[in-house]
Amino acid sequence: MNAPIKELNIEGKVAVITGGGGVICSVMAKALAMKGVKTAILDRDKETADKVAAEITQTYGTESIGFAADVLNKGLLEAAKKEINEKLGDIDFLINGAGGNAATATSKVEKIEKSDLENLEDTFFGLELEGFDKTFALNFQGTLLPSMVFATDMVKNGKGGIVNISSMNSYRPLTRIPAYSASKAAINNFTQWLAVHFAKTGVRVNAIAPGFLLTNQNRFLLVDEKTGESTPRGQKIMNGTPMERYGSPEELTGALTFLLSDWSEFITGIVIPVDGGFSAYSGV
Ligand code: NAD
Repeated sequence: MNAPIKELNIEGKVAVITGGGGVICSVMAKALAMKGVKTAILDRDKETADKVAAEITQTYGTESIGFAADVLNKGLLEAAKKEINEKLGDIDFLINGAGGNAATATSKVEKIEKSDLENLEDTFFGLELEGFDKTFALNFQGTLLPSMVFATDMVKNGKGGIVNISSMNSYRPLTRIPAYSASKAAINNFTQWLAVHFAKTGVRVNAIAPGFLLTNQNRFLLVDEKTGESTPRGQKIMNGTPMERYGSPEELTGALTFLLSDWSEFITGIVIPVDGGFSAYSGV
């Protein structure tokens, strides 16, 4: 019989992290580096990618290199892959973290009230297709293309893992952001599809659906700067989260490490909610 509990077995592996200069994925990259994973920090913004890579090398002594690449540009992704292979070796892991929303695909009002009938511009009817295209491109194609480019090493070597970054929005859309929600739902579906497609190759494909995190980018929306109390939107989130607190990017790293490691070797095609109970709660 095999040992009942295996080792993590991620030390010395090579991970590509898209959006690696951002809030969540920089923390994910650091968590992997702590466990001895070599990291390629890929971001549209070269400066942030380089900064995260330098911090990692300095703090953890694990190799880390920043790369400038748009996840929607296959040529740039292929050029980055060539350099990653030369400098770090074959790629074992891919974290598809680049993602976001477009203002033109965000309605100004949550629900149509009678008073809105005079000005439908602020509702669903004022949304712009261009915003939907942008958001779907970044979240969905921005997961699809890096998977096409970076998973080739994994499939050829018969081992590896992809973790896509979904969202609670994929299960239950938040008000006002239909394009973001639908594109994250597409990621869950694609995660399942690719998991099945790769199932016999030794490459596993899973996703993490973060709940509500308090980061510097959304703090102004969720916490009143003067009083430190929740804003009305922040209060709604607290009411919907049984643990009655926000998560932190660090709290996503356990699920990430688990999904990439041998601890989850019979798991593929799942989406793990890391959400303080949000997805389990009916609100009553
Ligand atoms: P962030 O804006 O801090 O990071 C995103 C990073 O992606 C940025 O560094 C940005 O430069 C990069 N990026 C954007 N477009 C790119 C492109 N075309 N090519 C390459 N890089 C690009 O955002 P974050 O909050 O850290 O979010 C990371 C992921 O987590 C996203 O997919 C987001 O949708 C998801 N998510 C975030 C939250 C949250 O509360 N912050 C919750 C659920 C899911």
